[in-house]
Amino acid sequence: MKQSLRLDPHQNRPAKQGFEKHCPAAGAGLRCAVAVQLTILGSGSSGNCSYLETGETRLLVDAGFSLRQIRERLASISRVPENLTGILVTHEHIDHVAGLEMLTRKLGIPVYCNRLTHEEIQLEQNFKFEARIFATGSSFEVGDILVDTFSIPHDAQDPVGFLVRTPTANVGFLTDLGHATNLVLERIRPAHALLLESNHDVKMLQDCPRRPWSLKQRILGRHGHLSNEAAAQAAQEIMSAGLRHLYLGHLSSECNRPEIAMRVMTERLEKIGAAHVQTLLACQQAPCPTLSL
Ligand SMILES: [Zn+2]
Ligand SMILES: [Zn+2]
Repeated sequence: MKQSLRLDPHQNRPAKQGFEKHCPAAGAGLRCAVAVQLTILGSGSSGNCSYLETGETRLLVDAGFSLRQIRERLASISRVPENLTGILVTHEHIDHVAGLEMLTRKLGIPVYCNRLTHEEIQLEQNFKFEARIFATGSSFEVGDILVDTFSIPHDAQDPVGFLVRTPTANVGFLTDLGHATNLVLERIRPAHALLLESNHDVKMLQDCPRRPWSLKQRILGRHGHLSNEAAAQAAQEIMSAGLRHLYLGHLSSECNRPEIAMRVMTERLEKIGAAHVQTLLACQQAPCPTLSL
């Protein structure tokens, strides 16, 4: 039986004051908003970084590449790291923070993370930096953007997912989670575009000769990473009429293949009648085309 779609994806708080902008083309007294531009600069076990831009705000979500790589990838969309408003950090694993030291030390870009993540990055990477600390579960503003944060189950100190509410659309970031809790599903559901982890094919991971048993257990565990099947299940439970673009991200290079991840997801979306959702692949090597929302 087909699952009926939720018709009210927003369940939103009232629109944030000041979200709309005066639009000269719209004439006096009318307002319009500049579309948010989303570019997944890269996603996978060796580095994760996304770029999001509104009329007033330019954010990275995670900085899991070297500054040089981030600079090159931003240059491909005619942007420079010097103009960033801030960096949102999900957790301290190196594939999410590899470029953070240079971005803060050389360029002074503000970093937004929770306290435990801040402490752990400084400890592991042996450098000190100032951060704008948020409490997990809280929401905060950066320019014309409102960021919702929520706890996700993963083997880091205090890992979070983000729902970034911009004047024109909500963008969700949900990678590195062992399983999708009810809290996660509820908090991410208002997303119009979502980066969702589809990390591994369970059989490929179990059969992988290069990974020790303990590591397989960690990845498969409740605080590891989402398999393709688990991602499809999460997408089904998140599904709303408002979700339009679904990026599959954080694919394992050894224990997954893009065509398998795509097939598992598209078959599931077809089964539940979610024909309105565009499924896209985020890859490790190169940025995705920019999405305008
Ligand atoms: Zn990761
Ligand atoms: Zn991680």
